[in-house]
Amino acid sequence: MFDKILIANRGEIALRVIRAAREMGIATVAVHSTADSDAMHVRMADESVCIGPPPGNQSYLSVPAIISACEITGAQAIHPGYGFLSENAGFVQIVEDHGITFIGPSAEHIRIMGDKITAKETAKELGIPVVPGSDGGVADLAEARRVGDAIGYPVIIKATAGGGGRGMKVARNAKEMEHAFSTARSEAKAAFGNDEVYIEKYLTTPRHIEIQVFGDGKGNAVHLGERDCSLQRRHQKVFEEAPGPCITSEERARIGKICADAVARINYIGAGTVEFLYENGEFYFIEMNTRLQVEHPVTEGIFGVDLVREQIRVAAGLPMSFTQDDLRINGHAIEVRINAEKLPNFSPCPGKITAYHAPGGLGVRMDSALYTGYSIPPYYDSLIAKLIVQGRDRPEALARLQRALSELIVDGIDTTVPLFHALLQEPDVQSGTYNIHWLERWLAENLAD
Ligand code: ADP
Repeated sequence: MFDKILIANRGEIALRVIRAAREMGIATVAVHSTADSDAMHVRMADESVCIGPPPGNQSYLSVPAIISACEITGAQAIHPGYGFLSENAGFVQIVEDHGITFIGPSAEHIRIMGDKITAKETAKELGIPVVPGSDGGVADLAEARRVGDAIGYPVIIKATAGGGGRGMKVARNAKEMEHAFSTARSEAKAAFGNDEVYIEKYLTTPRHIEIQVFGDGKGNAVHLGERDCSLQRRHQKVFEEAPGPCITSEERARIGKICADAVARINYIGAGTVEFLYENGEFYFIEMNTRLQVEHPVTEGIFGVDLVREQIRVAAGLPMSFTQDDLRINGHAIEVRINAEKLPNFSPCPGKITAYHAPGGLGVRMDSALYTGYSIPPYYDSLIAKLIVQGRDRPEALARLQRALSELIVDGIDTTVPLFHALLQEPDVQSGTYNIHWLERWLAENLAD
């Protein structure tokens, strides 16, 4: 096992990794920008190294600075958290070339799940169901029309290099194809410097269902069921739960096995998430995230496992500490993402926290790096806390969420907490009846200026 690891991240996820490491008796090194000298992850780690000025590309994304911090402190492994360098195959290669262990999958695993066409081809080869669509990139309008006629409208045109929900256009019929195709291409070019696009059947009322997988790098892999993350704003998840309210145990076992077998075949190592759109009982692959997800705590809750501990174990060459048969679902867990944002426009709201009190009690977990007196810097993601609750069933988890939200105090800035108070009053949220478009529609009707 490692004696010391470095965490190439900040905020709540850096704390999350420090907590797992400490329980395992492993020393931790925090890295931070000059804007984060007073951050909680720096206080909590055993050692810290300043790696640059505030902008992410000069600090948390600076590969030479992070490698140097490892060499100075003697850290043997790097945990990347999520975001920043967590899915950067080039970084993983450099880390390994320096004799440091990357706590995550190999550079090759990241590459084959990298751009969207490659990921879709990989998924198809591994027996994962994908959305019907073009075979790879679509060169011109004539080909786009042929694909549209073949798979049937509506279709969605997506950038091969896409990410963050950008570069996607829907064509509802053959007439709309010309305009949608050319705007998708020019947006892709502007956003990603690559105008290659591909076409998929557009699903009109899907839910977002993702499967948590975990591999030991030696051909063994398990699945830890699904998370339903259908409540999204601008393709960003805001409320996640496990198990999915609409997934049966038969469906879970079937799609879970497909995903676990697929990652076992490529000797996948560590945590991964296979994301699907789910409509009328069918799963359609959209992408795989080769890292720990923001919403991993809901899975940890219902299975009673520590996914970061497992990541560190397999990275050190140890076996997983559970088998598929050991994994049993216990109750229901929900996470809400609390952002430093001002409603109704969700504009970023950094600033000084004048009072902070985290909720507690049975079945409540607060993953946050906040403290009273902390100043949220304006340079990074606006996620400031993840409130995770667990109950024996979904109604109990919902009641507990409402109770926990009412205990939370974050003074000095605006947060998205009022959104969750309002959502919990909605019958559709109470019953779990929504698809990926529900929240956008609700926001337009209820939070308009
Ligand atoms: P990105 O990496 O840019 O987030 P994804 O491929 O993960 O792109 O898709 C993001 C979101 O776009 C999905 O969660 C869904 O809301 C929507 N989307 C993508 N493909 C389709 C599709 N074929 N039909 C309907 N919606 C889609």
